[in-house]
Amino acid sequence: MSKLLVFASSNAHKSHEIKQLLGKEWELKNLNDLHFHEEIVEDADTFEGNALIKAETIFKRFGTNCFADDSGLVIPALHGAPGVLSARYAGPEKDDQKNLLKVLRDMEQLEDRRAYFITCIALVMDGEVNYFEGKVEGHIRRDTIGTHGFGYDPIFEPELCGKTFAEMDTEEKNRYSHRARAMKAFLSYLNEVH
Ligand code: IMP
Repeated sequence: MSKLLVFASSNAHKSHEIKQLLGKEWELKNLNDLHFHEEIVEDADTFEGNALIKAETIFKRFGTNCFADDSGLVIPALHGAPGVLSARYAGPEKDDQKNLLKVLRDMEQLEDRRAYFITCIALVMDGEVNYFEGKVEGHIRRDTIGTHGFGYDPIFEPELCGKTFAEMDTEEKNRYSHRARAMKAFLSYLNEVH
């Protein structure tokens, strides 16, 4: 029988990526499946802090084992921005297109194009909290390319790939992505302990 694990997110793209990584022994439900549509205020100033806020909110409400991820794009030449504000970099409406155009504008004059994506996963299982991290280094293009994925995918090229995340299908993106790497650490923990 499969074991229930709630992913404290309503992002369909991410649920799809994660379902491909989880083994058949796990039944993954997200916030849409639970009909939970309230906004969770993510006001911590670290990725770990925001992941924990989401996982704990759902764990307290539903009492189910639960994990949440918090990710973002970190650009050293922009002093770490967009960072924990990645989703709402261009404003509270969380518009992916506006966000990436703002990054391109902010970096217009910058030669240092280095950037990385980072994911932190917080798992609340049987009342205990654990964290897992994944990172992918790359750089920011000067234009957009590709139609897959979401967020900053059309401007981010992982190191040595020669193409953006938005030019990769889910399977290829999962070979490199910050979320896949954090998930790998998370999954080996689940397999070891449960
Ligand atoms: P979240 O915490 O995973 O929801 O990520 C916050 C924001 O970071 C998203 O709204 C995106 O703008 C950006 N982001 C996170 N992961 C990715 C990714 O895999 N590709 C592109 N953008 C991402």
